[in-house]
Amino acid sequence: MLRRILDSPWTYFGLAAVLVLVAVASMFEIQVPSRPKGTVDDFLALQDRDDLNVVFIVIDTLRADHLGSYGYERGTSPNMDLLVSRGVRFANVEAQSSWTKTSMASLWTGVFPPRTGVTRFHHAIPDGARLPAEILLEAGFKTAGLWRNGWVAPNFGFGRGFESYYRAHDTQIARRELEAHRPGQAIGGTDEDLTQAAREYLRSYGHERFFLYVHYMDVHQFAYDQEAADLGFGTRHMDAYDAAIHWTDRNVAWVLAELEELDLFEKTLVVIASDHGEAFFEHDIEGHARDLYRETTEVPLLFIPPFILDEGIVVEPLVRNVDVWPTILDMLGLPPLAGADGQSLLPMIVAAGRGQEVVAPEPAIAFLDTHWGRTEEEPNPLISVRRGGKRLLLRPEKDHTEAYDIDADPGEQENLADAEDAPAWVGTLSDEGRGWYELEPAWGAAPEVVIDDMYKEQLKALGYVVK
Ligand SMILES: [Zn+2]
Repeated sequence: MLRRILDSPWTYFGLAAVLVLVAVASMFEIQVPSRPKGTVDDFLALQDRDDLNVVFIVIDTLRADHLGSYGYERGTSPNMDLLVSRGVRFANVEAQSSWTKTSMASLWTGVFPPRTGVTRFHHAIPDGARLPAEILLEAGFKTAGLWRNGWVAPNFGFGRGFESYYRAHDTQIARRELEAHRPGQAIGGTDEDLTQAAREYLRSYGHERFFLYVHYMDVHQFAYDQEAADLGFGTRHMDAYDAAIHWTDRNVAWVLAELEELDLFEKTLVVIASDHGEAFFEHDIEGHARDLYRETTEVPLLFIPPFILDEGIVVEPLVRNVDVWPTILDMLGLPPLAGADGQSLLPMIVAAGRGQEVVAPEPAIAFLDTHWGRTEEEPNPLISVRRGGKRLLLRPEKDHTEAYDIDADPGEQENLADAEDAPAWVGTLSDEGRGWYELEPAWGAAPEVVIDDMYKEQLKALGYVVK
């Protein structure tokens, strides 16, 4: 019998297949079954736990539709895809700006940009705003932030509540040779510096209850390593962007592998978000922070709970980045962000997980002062109002309106505001946008920070036009 098995070619085909499977599995640094099994009810029980940590990962400049779990045909994000296949994915998420600072100010405060007032080059988060890190610190968490994007620097108010708020230094890590598609605009270091700092933080403080924020930057920089280059995506600008996503996806996996190594994964809530997307000439513009079409406002939002669901939950209706922190604080059973425009998405997660009707929070407001970097010039505000598949873009100082029915026109190409028989919602959303624009800031005018020439040079290194 044994002889027959050994002689049979099928035995060797079978063995080869097993070896291939092992090789494929080892490509992923995270294996899904590393946490206990859970159900949707376990989301409601999280607030009773006193051991739950939070890892909050922001991947700067990551548009949702370039991730596998959002339907992208390229294998840009195998690790995050695998993780969220047993977690929660929000299928439609609107960031509150296409410029980092305005967007992150809203993400942290849960307040839409017209009410944060953080819209210009030299603006900082007002003192009256209370930030999630302050709430977590007060609740007894150790808090740390690791970042490389100068727009979230502490002088703009983003460090409040963090015991350590640290710009990862270029550690000259040479074990991976990074390709840089735009070498002339490279900032120091790579995202691996952030990853190494995050892992070291977990090894040093993981035995205490912690909140760790990691803000990755290499997708913004179009930087990637040889392994991503070897995928052969191509030589276009967008191909480099995709390679950088693959590189960042592996950095995320290394941080989570450290959680697993330290037996912390089953007591850590991991949330992955982004501040805005990136345009590739869908509307004659490449980059971001210049307009508010889908390619620069639609971002991913993934919740990886400390347990494994039998089947991942997908929440379809449009949600907003202002909802992210109200949701995390709700899950932790901590006080909400006072006066937030955002709301907890926990009821949506539970409803979606139980197959019940899911009601979207509305509207989704995004805002950009397209003159944010031109300190000598007057503001040039652009406001976007979304309700479901309808988008209204308004330049209130110029009386210019655009309107798109995204369900019928996913590329936002046909401006319905110009049509003689414009649908009724165009007027309704236009009034709504004007109403938001005219609101007073929640905490008074944003304080203004003096920015020296050295700092301006650092911001130019990010590729921004700064005058
Ligand atoms: Zn950004």
